[in-house]
Amino acid sequence: MTFKETALPESTGWRAPFGTFRLFAAGTHAGFARHVDTFGPLDLDSVGPELISVLKASGLTGRGGAAFASWRKLAATAQSRSAGILAPRPVVIGNGAEGEPLSFKDKTLLAEAPHLVIDGLLAASRAVGGSQLYLYAGAASFPAVERAISERPAARGIRLVEAPDRFIAGEASAAVNAIATGSALPFDKRRRLSESGLKNRPTLVLNVETLAHIALIARYGAVWFRSVGSAVDPGTRLISVSGPGPDQVLEVAGNESLGEILYSSQIDAADVAAVLVGGYHGRWVKPHDYKLSVSGPASHAVRPGAGVFHVLPAGYCGLETTARIVDYLAGESARQCGPCMFGLPAMAGVLNRIAYRERDPRLVKELERLGKLVAGRGACHHPDGTIQLISSALDVFSDEIKAHLAGTCTTVNGRAA
Ligand code: SF4
Repeated sequence: MTFKETALPESTGWRAPFGTFRLFAAGTHAGFARHVDTFGPLDLDSVGPELISVLKASGLTGRGGAAFASWRKLAATAQSRSAGILAPRPVVIGNGAEGEPLSFKDKTLLAEAPHLVIDGLLAASRAVGGSQLYLYAGAASFPAVERAISERPAARGIRLVEAPDRFIAGEASAAVNAIATGSALPFDKRRRLSESGLKNRPTLVLNVETLAHIALIARYGAVWFRSVGSAVDPGTRLISVSGPGPDQVLEVAGNESLGEILYSSQIDAADVAAVLVGGYHGRWVKPHDYKLSVSGPASHAVRPGAGVFHVLPAGYCGLETTARIVDYLAGESARQCGPCMFGLPAMAGVLNRIAYRERDPRLVKELERLGKLVAGRGACHHPDGTIQLISSALDVFSDEIKAHLAGTCTTVNGRAA
């Protein structure tokens, strides 16, 4: 991969970050002065709807999980705003709720580079003509964000709302519900937030990492953003790496190979049984021959989802690990939809029976049958995400399943990780 450095116009003197070291370029716990010194000032008065076209050219996709084209979200919100002179002005929400237990990149970003997130929130609001701004995040992120807001008058209108520590609290409609009612439950996915979200106003919800990228694209442009990554997956993304070693946050190029990520994480690929990519709603893969990308065939590309990269070391049992995760996910149903409320615990029960070596060859078929009953029938993505995780486990750990159904185990001591 080649990196191309792009300089800002001569008069400013600031140079854009180079290579994949972008979001943390201002160093740890950067205050406003160091932030501006590193990235240059962002002239908000010059930011308007044109930013949406720049985002389209950049190819930025959301970094919170669903990987929608970011410009589409802004365009849909701006369009609702232009519906008439009396149309309410949009609400813009920065979503830093990381209900995903294996994700910590957003907390890290808010702690280390809160000013980039604030820049992105202010710029996105300018682009869609927004008038109310919120930052929704766990309480642990508040001190750094409050300190950052206090350093700049333009940010003082941003309201902080605490996100509860629950898996589905980060879902976009749950974020809106939490701000409106204090209850972080998702609502009907047929309702478009861009038309009617908080207080029935057009509402734009963007992940905080997405906002940080917007802050840099607003400064340096689409060509700079695309100077790293691939044509189909440009730019960089943060990933939360967990597993045998210490937790770490890496910034990697789009379309990076999983082998390269393991190398950067100082993990020997030979010691890895499988990697869970994307989080609890993600997918287990054997790392060889896969790239981390929002695009590409499922045989060679794995979606980054919430930016989770969890390594299962060799000798650990992927079935026990998955059963434990599905137990957790079944308990995290918001209990609003029957298939989710009853189907996920039933699937967790069957998966546990396989994981703990019940010798009944009908169990896999039963798991598949339950998956078909639950799929596509929740008001939110929770059941479908859980089914995706289980399906990938059935595929990647097929040898282990055969061994378990024969009453044996392929791992050293059947440990979950
Ligand atoms: S699908 Fe599950 S988590 Fe989603 S809204 Fe329905 S009950 Fe809640």
